[in-house]
Amino acid sequence: MNDRTVVYKTFYNPIEGNIVKARLEDSGFSCFLADENVSTIYPLYNQAIGGIKLIVFEDDVDQINQLLAEDNSTLVHDGEEPQHQQEEKILCEVCGSDNVGYGMATKKKFSWWVILISFFVAVYPPFKGNKCYHCYNCGHEFK
Ligand SMILES: [Zn+2]
Repeated sequence: MNDRTVVYKTFYNPIEGNIVKARLEDSGFSCFLADENVSTIYPLYNQAIGGIKLIVFEDDVDQINQLLAEDNSTLVHDGEEPQHQQEEKILCEVCGSDNVGYGMATKKKFSWWVILISFFVAVYPPFKGNKCYHCYNCGHEFK
C-alpha cells in the first residue's frame, strides 16, 4: 500500500468535480478537490484559471477508472448487473433486451453525471414530453 496521491482529473466545472468526488466517496474511495491557487481566493473564476483538481490515491486509480468506466457504460452493459441503479427491468418491446434506458430520446450513451444533472433539473423539466425508453441493443425507442 503506498499513500502517494495523484491528480486524477482536472475539472473546469466545479459542479462536475463535486459530483465525481461524491460518486467516489460513495464507493469508498478517499479523494479531495484542490483548487488552483488563485481560484481558492476567487472560486467563481475556476473556469478562467484552470479548474479544480480531483486528487486520489495512486493505488485507487485503477479501481476508479473501472468504476467510472462502468458508470459510463452502465446503459450499454450486458453481463453482470451494475449495483447502483435501475429499480425495475424494462424489456425492449422489439428485441426483448433488458438493455434499456429511460430518458431523453437519444442515440448517444449517457454519462452518469448527465443523468444526475438531468435528475436535478427534472424539478423544472425543460424537455417535457420528450422522454421515452431507449433500447441499447437494437436502438428501438418506445414509451
Ligand atoms: Zn431492442
